[in-house]
Amino acid sequence: MDPRVERFMANIIAKNPGELEFHQAVKEVAESLIPFIEENPKYKYAKILERIAEPERIIMFRVPWTDDKGEIQINKGYRIEMNSAIGPYKGGLRFHPTVNLGILKFLAFEQVFKNSLTTLPIGGGKGGSDFDPKGKTDNEVMKFCQSFMTELSRHIGPDTDIPAGDIGVGGREIGFMFGQYKRLRNEFTGVLTGKGREWGGSLIRPEATGYGCVYFAQAMLQTRDDSLKGKTIAVSGSGNVAQFATEKATELGAKVVTLSDSTGFIYDPGGIDREKLASVMEIKNIKRGRIREYADKFGVEYYDGKRPWIVKCDVALPCATENEINKEEAENLIKNGCFVISEGANMPSTAEAVEIFLKNRILFGPGKAANAGGVAVSGLEMTQNSMRMSWHREEVDQKLQQIMKDIHETCIRFGDEKDGYINYVKGSNIGGFVKVADAMLAQGAV
Ligand code: GLU
Repeated sequence: MDPRVERFMANIIAKNPGELEFHQAVKEVAESLIPFIEENPKYKYAKILERIAEPERIIMFRVPWTDDKGEIQINKGYRIEMNSAIGPYKGGLRFHPTVNLGILKFLAFEQVFKNSLTTLPIGGGKGGSDFDPKGKTDNEVMKFCQSFMTELSRHIGPDTDIPAGDIGVGGREIGFMFGQYKRLRNEFTGVLTGKGREWGGSLIRPEATGYGCVYFAQAMLQTRDDSLKGKTIAVSGSGNVAQFATEKATELGAKVVTLSDSTGFIYDPGGIDREKLASVMEIKNIKRGRIREYADKFGVEYYDGKRPWIVKCDVALPCATENEINKEEAENLIKNGCFVISEGANMPSTAEAVEIFLKNRILFGPGKAANAGGVAVSGLEMTQNSMRMSWHREEVDQKLQQIMKDIHETCIRFGDEKDGYINYVKGSNIGGFVKVADAMLAQGAV
């Protein structure tokens, strides 16, 4: 390891003990940025990287609520306000039992670079709770969301911090939280994004992360005069991102053969077409069931306890969660001919897996570039809310496509290597950094 990165990381680890995912996210960025900062000493003397790695503010709170049996439950609530140099804090809320401070700090850190890459004026933040919506009734979810927002409402606002969804937080949760915020503040404002379209939401927001991830894969393929047409794709996850990545990839002529959840994956060599995808949406979004039901319904293989990276594919779209592709799985993907990875999830590839992808010179689009479409359309939702207008579907989709192209251009600009290989990791890290760093320089040591 570069000794400068080693020194920097020793300090990060000492200051943030035990936060492994946060260390992983910071290290990946530091590896790209430290050589760049050496060449641009203005960032070095102002200690921009050291400052970016320290959240501006962390809010931690108790979330008490009463379940359907009348028993009191206590969860942890968090909001990490990471960086506001280029705009108000913006980023999702995750409700999942694995949520802890380290996970949210990694996500908030990634969000700063991602949001900068979108070209929109949004800072970075993230929040959530260890609350598990799985198996809870609508009433219990509502009680929890109301209690969570009762405290969070003191800290956020349409010009301060604008949360949205992430794992475990979709339209239902955003609705309950929006209702509670409005009731507490007596204000109808764009304080959350991912709202229903009748009450301030943007068209295309539910689709945006998945669509954007596919647009990014398409842009990467274009650099090799190739396209998604006729490609076989392995998708992981079966939530919002995976569903709309499948929809768009299929529309562009590819064949998606896998989907997964935390218990296993389904393999449908015939491809998950429009009708089958409608069943997935019914199983996951309405029945809130398991992906295994797809295998039962369509008579395809279900691999219990496994992840999709063992199947043959040209393209992989990891759309589930962090660290879902390890070293062995990365090697396996390469061995099976996969040469495009576009990350729909945040940090789905481990550091070892990323190393393998880069070493093999494949098209690797890291999450902070490839999944930025979601937060980008959240940014467009904020714009529409400020104007008290709503744009048509085509208009939002056009803007999303343009943003993904612009992100891709930025990656080329900063990630082009001597041998002509585009290192999207380096490109997105430096490209996301420069705008935030220059804003921080201009605003002084605050
Ligand atoms: N949670 C999403 C992300 O990881 C979206 C955030 C937002 O829309 O603010 O970028």
